Amino acid sequence: MNIYAVAIPVPLYKTFHYTSDEVLDLGARVEVNFANRRMVGIVWGQTDAHDVEPGILKKLKPVVRVLDQSPIFDETWRALLQWLSEYYQHPLGEVCQTALPVALRKPNGNSQIAAQKYLKLTSFFQSQWDECEDAGVIFKNAGHRVASQQQALFSELAKGPKSFVDIRQGFTKATLDGLAQKSMVTSFEAPIVAGSWQQHADYWANLTHARANVEQALVVTGITSQLEQYGAFLLEGVTGSGKTEVYLQTIANVLAKGQQVLILVPEIGLTPQTVSRFEQRFGIEVGVIHSGLSDAARLSVWQKARAEQIGLVIGTRSAIFTPLPTLGMIIIDEEHDESFKQQDGLKYHARALATMIAHKRNIPLLLGTATPTAESLHNANSGKYQHFTLTQRAGGAVPAALRLVDTSQIPLTAGLADETLKTMQEHLNAGSQVLVFLNRRGYAPAVICQQCGQAQECRACDKPYTYHRAKRKLICHHCTDQVSLVPSCMHCGHANMETEGIGTEQLTAQIDALFPQYNSIRIDSDAMRGKDVLSNTLDAINANDYQILVGTQILAKGHHFANVTCVVIMDVDTALFSPDFRATEKLAQLITQISGRAGRATKPGETLLQTAQPGHPLIQDLLNNGYGHCIRTILHERQANQLPPYTHQALIRAEDPDLNKCLRLLHFAMEQCEQLQSLMLLGPLPCLIEKRQSRYRYQLLLQAEQRGYLHGVLKQLTPSIQAFAQELRIRWSVDVDNIDFS
Ligand code: ADP
Ligand code: ZN
Repeated sequence: MNIYAVAIPVPLYKTFHYTSDEVLDLGARVEVNFANRRMVGIVWGQTDAHDVEPGILKKLKPVVRVLDQSPIFDETWRALLQWLSEYYQHPLGEVCQTALPVALRKPNGNSQIAAQKYLKLTSFFQSQWDECEDAGVIFKNAGHRVASQQQALFSELAKGPKSFVDIRQGFTKATLDGLAQKSMVTSFEAPIVAGSWQQHADYWANLTHARANVEQALVVTGITSQLEQYGAFLLEGVTGSGKTEVYLQTIANVLAKGQQVLILVPEIGLTPQTVSRFEQRFGIEVGVIHSGLSDAARLSVWQKARAEQIGLVIGTRSAIFTPLPTLGMIIIDEEHDESFKQQDGLKYHARALATMIAHKRNIPLLLGTATPTAESLHNANSGKYQHFTLTQRAGGAVPAALRLVDTSQIPLTAGLADETLKTMQEHLNAGSQVLVFLNRRGYAPAVICQQCGQAQECRACDKPYTYHRAKRKLICHHCTDQVSLVPSCMHCGHANMETEGIGTEQLTAQIDALFPQYNSIRIDSDAMRGKDVLSNTLDAINANDYQILVGTQILAKGHHFANVTCVVIMDVDTALFSPDFRATEKLAQLITQISGRAGRATKPGETLLQTAQPGHPLIQDLLNNGYGHCIRTILHERQANQLPPYTHQALIRAEDPDLNKCLRLLHFAMEQCEQLQSLMLLGPLPCLIEKRQSRYRYQLLLQAEQRGYLHGVLKQLTPSIQAFAQELRIRWSVDVDNIDFS
């Protein structure tokens, strides 16, 4: 009989013993009974019977069954998962689960590529297509009415067979059934066809591309000459300087060696436009992984990557867990983006994990951004990263000039100064597009009773509701609670209410009234809901269907609008006074990224920053010296104040409807650390979002000069907090290298 330690997804800091008659592979999934439930665990280690207490030995249960033919996690991945568990103080079983695609978290998920169902045109209709290449004509000749979706799918299939999983990414079942009823298609089963990415070196060398400028060429050759070893590279290149072109040319050199490449991009930056740039350059299938995919589609990419049938994977944060047996390079685009840090469960940073992967596999890691984080710049300064810069916009475009509009003493129309309106008009007159940034969704951020002066608030969060006019709803942006627009005040009952402040919904309406001869479009998560909406809107903007773009954060992520020459940034002053020490860094990144969306060679752009704080040192630094200088100033301040990246932090959060319980848990944690001289404690303090969904949220900050010291403390501390929290029945978490205090 063999005894195995199995990692099971439960919030406990240990593995569990099971027996098996067979010898099991480490890293394989097994189905086990745990507390009367069937669960999927990972075989983590073999244990000698002498190491288990005799009393317990007799009670050990057998593994129910083995789920994989070959282990899911190889030795390298097991070491990485162990590291994640220890570094982020997160239970190993839950770490393993996070690393698995959702479809494999259940016993029936299949890690091998199964034969897939494919669809193709019947030979009769394929020959029809070969004659005229027009689905419309073929439908008409066959006596069918126009059916645009069916015709679109028909045209897709004319290019070759497609798997059902792939088809269902773009088409509904009704469309598919429509073609079947017309007897235009047949289905068949086959294993997935092997990828076509493994080409001769000549193929990659002969791809057509722009000629790299001197700065670009230095980066490409610099990295390419160090492909067979670990190296981290920070590519600091102003927006539009050709970072993506550098990625493309470097990637070609890795693919040419028969090695796979992984590219991580921010959550909202991954659009079909991004993917097609890679597909078009290389002419190969690109595996795409993001949160909007179905579990089946995700699994399909995971399987293909693991079977080396695709060479290039682009994805958001969780794509870092894609198994790529011949991985040759990792790229993180927009490395400053906060979406690379997971905020719940295992609170890992994809950049930190990428560094570990690159280390273990002896491959390069390339971090690209126009606005490097203080952390990454510090690593470049200290020699941990090799530092490359691209200072010029490719193709000769000049960066948008930043201009301040002092709003402290003047009346505003729809939140906009007269000077701003006048400048917008000038750019519109010249045939250009204008982008207006306001990071507040909805119609108005508050509804105030004119009788008692109180805002209508979400009781669960103690925060004002945001008014959404089109939906006729008050929505809490903290917990998504919705209530119908109430005619009378929830506090005093009077029916005399007015909105206060302005959100994107109202701003767009007012801009339509101010500029009636132009089309505007609102780009925020309310307006861009649904598949392909954002992507289609981006296309429409580039086709000049809209002249004025009003939007939130989404606009700051990676999209380039060649015809935008004027960017207006509204209402960012609150960040200047935030208690979060990273707020100024994030604001400088935001302003720089948004203004980077504008301008091309023929039409120089300008950015208007409306602020009531024109004299603020950060604003002045950014205005006069640019982001590169600004972030270096911020680094000096961090050093002077003993803040990260010069020190290391971890945040312990407690959440409960009972405020006292939160405080008890955090005080307990403090007592455990009382004797520690080298640890700085701050708290308990309310989180920036003090209450959410009826739970109070409090935090305790731990800070130490040495990372190793902090981890030593956490290792002792977390199991005892876990035990006490269980006794108190309170929700808690630890966030290592936290990037915010919300
Ligand atoms: P970034 O990723 O830094 O924003 P891109 O790689 O998207 O920059 O480049 C911006 C634009 O400049 C793109 O249209 C790209 O095709 C073009 N470009 C990049 N490098 C060159 C080059 N060496 N010569 C000419 N055009 C280039
Ligand atoms: Zn709420």
